[in-house]
Amino acid sequence: MADAKIIDGKAFAAGLRARVADGVAALKASHGVTPGLAVVLVGEDPASQVYVRSKERALVELGMNSFDHHEPADMAESDLLALIDRLNADPAVHGILVQLPLPGHIDSQKVLARIVPEKDADGFHVVNAGLLATGQPGAIVPCTPLGSLLLIRDTLGRDLKGKRALVLGRSNIVGKPMAQLLLQADCTVTMAHSRTVDLPVECRRADILVAAVGRPEMVRGDWIKPGATVIDVGINRVAAAEPGKTRLVGDVAFDEAVKVAGAITPVPGGVGPMTIACLMLNTLAAACRAAGAPVPA
Ligand code: NDP
Repeated sequence: MADAKIIDGKAFAAGLRARVADGVAALKASHGVTPGLAVVLVGEDPASQVYVRSKERALVELGMNSFDHHEPADMAESDLLALIDRLNADPAVHGILVQLPLPGHIDSQKVLARIVPEKDADGFHVVNAGLLATGQPGAIVPCTPLGSLLLIRDTLGRDLKGKRALVLGRSNIVGKPMAQLLLQADCTVTMAHSRTVDLPVECRRADILVAAVGRPEMVRGDWIKPGATVIDVGINRVAAAEPGKTRLVGDVAFDEAVKVAGAITPVPGGVGPMTIACLMLNTLAAACRAAGAPVPA
């Protein structure tokens, strides 16, 4: 069997970003509105700083406003909630992103719940989760599952009706919304997690396998149905062959899976770039809704 098609998330994300930039320019021209995202970072977690910087850079590149709030690690929860209240009330701010994880003394759920749902650019608010789960319009969908769905559709076509999909992982930010999106696309969806029995057998039934577990290379080649579409959400840093160096791997053993799957996302360069591109899309969509302009499809 020929090796799988490698799904180029980087190239797809570049195209999506270009479309978002066009949408931003159109909104400015038609309504005089510049989409703006407030990015809130509390503390100095190095990985979070990298993520936040790349989000802020992307906003500026696409012609949007980036309102950066980098706060000290000992910020009081009440001060963070007050900041969210100010951002909720600011008409120049169309989306609010609070970089997770927050320091331990802050209740993340309380902070996320404080963001008004229409500015919840990450789609983590229970109102947006509820709109998605009940299939209602206007839900802001979490960026990583949304990006994964766009890659699946680009690979298999828009019609996913009747496909067997397995989502490995049931987190609120990836696994659950991913399963909801696939269900809405008329797939027959199985959700697997750490208590699932006979995981390889479950995985082998799937035409579409989305792995979001955070376990380096857990999904082996012989867990994959020949010809399946494999979306590897995992980002895991492991030791490289060269002493002292590290490298990124996914939740799927790529070298094995590529020989069995029909199409597969690499790590890096697969789902990762889609996440930020979808954050930009969510921010543009929120600005369009606020301005009463048509929301980009
Ligand atoms: P979580 O840790 O929140 O969830 C992991 C899920 O995997 C849980 O549902 C857990 O099950 C399940 N799980 C863990 N171990 C096993 C196992 N041995 N067998 C079966 N299921 C297992 O992770 P996230 O959803 O936040 O992230 C998942 C991965 O995706 C991570 O590698 C993360 O870095 C990456 N990620 C990538 C993004 C991107 O932009 N590409 C964005 C977000 C995340 P249970 O519920 O039973 O504990």
